[in-house]
Amino acid sequence: MSRIAFIGLGNMGLPMAINLKKAGHDVHAFDMVAEAMEKASDAGMVAASSVTEAVTDAEIIVTMLPNGSIVLKVFEEIVPAADKGTVLIDCSTIDVESARKAHEMASKAGLLPLDAPVSGGTGGASAGTLTFMVGGSQEAFEKATPVLDIMGGKLVHCGEGGAGQAAKICNNMLLGISMIGACEAFALAEKLGLPAQSAFDVISTSSGFCWSVNKYCPVPGIGPESPADNDYKPGFAADLMVKDLGLSQQAAENAGQMTPMGEYALKLYQTFLEEGGSGKDFSGIIEYLKSADRK
Ligand code: NAD
Repeated sequence: MSRIAFIGLGNMGLPMAINLKKAGHDVHAFDMVAEAMEKASDAGMVAASSVTEAVTDAEIIVTMLPNGSIVLKVFEEIVPAADKGTVLIDCSTIDVESARKAHEMASKAGLLPLDAPVSGGTGGASAGTLTFMVGGSQEAFEKATPVLDIMGGKLVHCGEGGAGQAAKICNNMLLGISMIGACEAFALAEKLGLPAQSAFDVISTSSGFCWSVNKYCPVPGIGPESPADNDYKPGFAADLMVKDLGLSQQAAENAGQMTPMGEYALKLYQTFLEEGGSGKDFSGIIEYLKSADRK
């Protein structure tokens, strides 16, 4: 049994922390929201009254927070209070630059930091089947592995600090682009009088096959069950896709890399949110594409 501090008990953090508790660890939890703290207590965790109290004497610290500036603010509280050698795992999805700053801040104080963003959503968080994309030293990765294994089904050590965030935003930029491509193909098929099932049968076994078509088809009643079959209830909310495409575009700008499709995908998803797509699954953008007039 390890003493684990868990900071950030939202839609993702709470079920992840519950899995650590269920596995027999001594989890000291903190969130700014009282309701989240009540749920943590109900699940048998120790309710800490501050970040400092949660992380004092912890062997492992996990953070699951909304964005880079909040992560840096929370790290400023964690770093002076944590013992040297403590493994500090940030599972939030944040910009690469903040991840590197957080890494540097923690390493300088003798902590073992990892950036470990996830894919798999709230379903994966509850089931303990998340994929972790991890950046940081081999030593930190090895020490964190038993804890990450409880919360996840797959771990990929991507490289040094920031590499996990880089992997996450590159993957999600491609996902955002490919989903729009899949939606365009099905929308055009419909306008051309081609049945969606025929389009699926051809594309899913031809060179257009991809996860967005084969596993997460944006058309109701076609392919394996997906949010399209549930009125586009997320799944992966379009709002989170806008966040991740914003991060990939910010990273591309900082790195001087041209990503025109990523840039256009971000614009389309932003428009989708403005046109009523907020709170819907990201594959629901097919409805916007079908309803919008061709300019
Ligand atoms: P959320 O908003 O539900 O949870 C964030 C929690 O952090 C909230 O409970 C909030 O009160 C808490 N918090 C904020 N500032 C704090 C502070 N200073 N101290 C303590 N607690 C603080 O968000 P979420 O959906 O759980 O997502 C968390 C992270 O995981 C995000 O970075 C998100 O991009 C990423 N993510 C989310 C999903 C998803 O499907 N929800 C999937 C993959 C990755």
